Amino acid sequence: MAVCEVKKITYTYPTGETALKDCDFSLERGETALLAGPSGSGKSTLLRLLAGLAPEFYGGTLAGKYLYMGQDMRNLAGPELAREIGIVFQDPEKQLLMTGLERELVFGMENIGCSPAEMGNRLDEIMGYFDLSPLLNIPLQQLSGGQKQKVVLAAVMAVRPKLLLLDEPTSQLDPQAAAEFMSLVRRLSKQQGVTVVIAEQRLERVLPFVERVVHFHDGCPRFDGGVQQFLHWA
Ligand code: ADP
Ligand code: ADP
Repeated sequence: MAVCEVKKITYTYPTGETALKDCDFSLERGETALLAGPSGSGKSTLLRLLAGLAPEFYGGTLAGKYLYMGQDMRNLAGPELAREIGIVFQDPEKQLLMTGLERELVFGMENIGCSPAEMGNRLDEIMGYFDLSPLLNIPLQQLSGGQKQKVVLAAVMAVRPKLLLLDEPTSQLDPQAAAEFMSLVRRLSKQQGVTVVIAEQRLERVLPFVERVVHFHDGCPRFDGGVQQFLHWA
């Protein structure tokens, strides 16, 4: 079963801007897809839609259908979405609470009502998986951009979402930190079967880590296929 199935979605912001036009998009479990295309082509709006954010947060009008795991997104409640779908934005400074590492990692787990015992287990697991122990005694403010973004990813994954959405996740990072971040994302996909969608302007940073490219233009995909095919097409 497809994780996400967007069928003929047209989405217009309250400003009258139609950001998605008759857009079709679907994603199988474990797939990693890069959303490419010029600025303003609808990538972020699609990510918001996949996250269940577009209609509620921005108003506007939505036509068409979006199914998450076969269920109409309109019927999924906020707490369910918080469990199922994780999002990483471009600026870790805005996403982190900036209190302390452990606080960041438990925040999402508290939100979904994890028991203290379960939180303890997951905390150990996530510290190990993301190799965060070396950062434990450093104030978050002093971490590099790449380290901060890694903490964001770890905190998001502590909730164990099935779908991970990344909105320009490497734009604040230097090339090496970007590659490290993308390696982590790839590992999550390969080892844990997490389904991943990445919107990113800097294609060269993401292409080595994905199998599929969906190129947007004017509100819908104009190309959808493998990386080699995309490089030939572009
Ligand atoms: P991309 O991520 O590819 O740059 P967006 O989804 O951000 O594209 O934007 C698609 C279109 O929707 C653009 O014309 C943009 O100006 C418009 N848009 C995006 N966000 C908003 C918003 N919050 N309110 C009104 N219009 C928006
Ligand atoms: P992105 O391409 O990643 O969406 P932008 O710089 O286009 O980044 O948008 C930054 C913010 O401005 C977003 O929150 C978006 O919703 C908002 N935005 C973009 N276009 C418009 C618009 N035409 N009207 C109102 N808000 C907009």
